[in-house]
Amino acid sequence: TNGTVIDAWRRRVDAHPDAAALAWFDAVLTAREVDDLSDGIAVALADRGVQRGDRVALHLQNVPHYALLFLAIWKLGAVAVLVNPMYRGRELRVLLEDAEPVLLVCADHDADALLAECRDTTVRGVLTVNARDFQTRGDERVFTAPASEPRDDDLLTVAVSGRPSGPDPAPEDVALLAYTSGTTGPPKGAMVSHANLLATATDFGDRARVRDGAVVFAAAPLFHITGAVLNAAVALVRDTTLVFAGRFDAGVTLDALVEHRVTYTIGSITVFNALSAHPAATRSHFDSLETLYSGGAPIPPATIGAFEERFGHYIHNAYGMTETTAGVIAVSPGERAPVDPDSGSLSVGKPLPRAEVRTVNDAGVPTPPGVPGELEVAGPQVVSGYWNNPEATASAMPDGHMRTGDVALIDPDGWVYLVDRLKDQINVSGYKVWPREVEDVLYEHPAVFEAAVVGRPDDYQGESVVAYVSLRADAAATGDELVDFARSRLAAYKRPRTVHVVTDLPKTLTGKIRRAALADRVLPTRT
Ligand code: ATP
Ligand code: MG
Repeated sequence: TNGTVIDAWRRRVDAHPDAAALAWFDAVLTAREVDDLSDGIAVALADRGVQRGDRVALHLQNVPHYALLFLAIWKLGAVAVLVNPMYRGRELRVLLEDAEPVLLVCADHDADALLAECRDTTVRGVLTVNARDFQTRGDERVFTAPASEPRDDDLLTVAVSGRPSGPDPAPEDVALLAYTSGTTGPPKGAMVSHANLLATATDFGDRARVRDGAVVFAAAPLFHITGAVLNAAVALVRDTTLVFAGRFDAGVTLDALVEHRVTYTIGSITVFNALSAHPAATRSHFDSLETLYSGGAPIPPATIGAFEERFGHYIHNAYGMTETTAGVIAVSPGERAPVDPDSGSLSVGKPLPRAEVRTVNDAGVPTPPGVPGELEVAGPQVVSGYWNNPEATASAMPDGHMRTGDVALIDPDGWVYLVDRLKDQINVSGYKVWPREVEDVLYEHPAVFEAAVVGRPDDYQGESVVAYVSLRADAAATGDELVDFARSRLAAYKRPRTVHVVTDLPKTLTGKIRRAALADRVLPTRT
């Protein structure tokens, strides 16, 4: 398991050159074809000045070019920068100014807008992707734009025959610049090395039993660490087919699961909620699945239970963060995550073999089994730091242990239970309330679709508990009914004082509910 994802990729191509490796609707490429095409793209990138260590920004939905670009960029020892394809204007410029990429790759229909955004940045050229004609390859076009005038060329038409000439990357070289979700503050760029990537791709794939011959569906967005590593990298390092279907859509996903006989995927709770809510979804859509994972955000036990009852598949929980190269703790297939009787928290699983996980108190001293503390993670998955941000690096990982900002407890059997984010704790007259516990109770109500709980300043109690919920289509419930529902299931100090029924909850672009935005915002209520 030493080395890089490129080493593992090359071994896999040599062993199974003719096996299907990449699928996009009807188009299927073998491992050898993917390898040749990514070589050609690597040469084209090198021709456009991409050198070792240079950043290439990927402003793309889940299109198959993503896998080709990862391989091409890594073969050059360059760095893929994951960019949310919804980014425009200021958010994009902030990111370009931070990451300083030399090239940007985007969808062809975005090219005009993004060419303008790239003017006067470090971006010297824009390559475009036309997902509709995935297999079309034309003649080479020469990239002649002067440095200040980025212009667009189609990625597949610029790919040439040939192999990149430089040495392969080293394990400690940076492979990905991946930004955190920005749930608690501005996103930070984590420098994910090849060694980090290979560690998670190997160990998580083993934990999830992604076998040779598996079919992996890219459900989570590749612009975020969960999709890039737990869908894509896990699939690339072994003999699997990686299936893409564009931006997540429940109906398209249901079709793809059946068409490609998908065996494994990981998504966030938003994915499972959308699949459950789709009117056409039936048990038979999930026939070929072997293991299903949820990661990157809390998933309430009620959601897992309802999904299993309806579709016959248990959703395995997994925990990780951008800075730990995605999943480092996960439930094993065949096991069921226990619920901690005190906090009501669903276990996120047990640490992967090489992840060193502990909980520490305020003084940094490890807490004994069963006693909550801040979760810290060390091991080959933990990144060396944040890009351009030594202060944040020093405070988050002073001694090689990543301070996660999450509160957890570990039981004597090694199950890890995530209590909540340290910063989101609510203090009601000195009693500590974790929003997630209250949210989990609200999710038990049949009308509730999504829930978020925050603290509100309160003259009398210091803070009071306030909830925001959105309702399922066709379901009805009033805020007062939900307050009553929670009252019968929670200790007095944990009960929400008010439940606001709203049309939609604020989310990060990776689909996480942003509690912080609720603490100071009035949302449109549902009529
Ligand atoms: P930022 O660091 O920018 O504020 P973020 O922490 O949401 O945003 P990510 O790296 O995408 O950015 O997410 C990691 C966090 O997601 C973890 O610290 C944890 O709070 C949460 N998380 C991940 N997996 C799970 C899970 N299975 N259950 C509950 N929470 C999870
Ligand atoms: Mg974080």
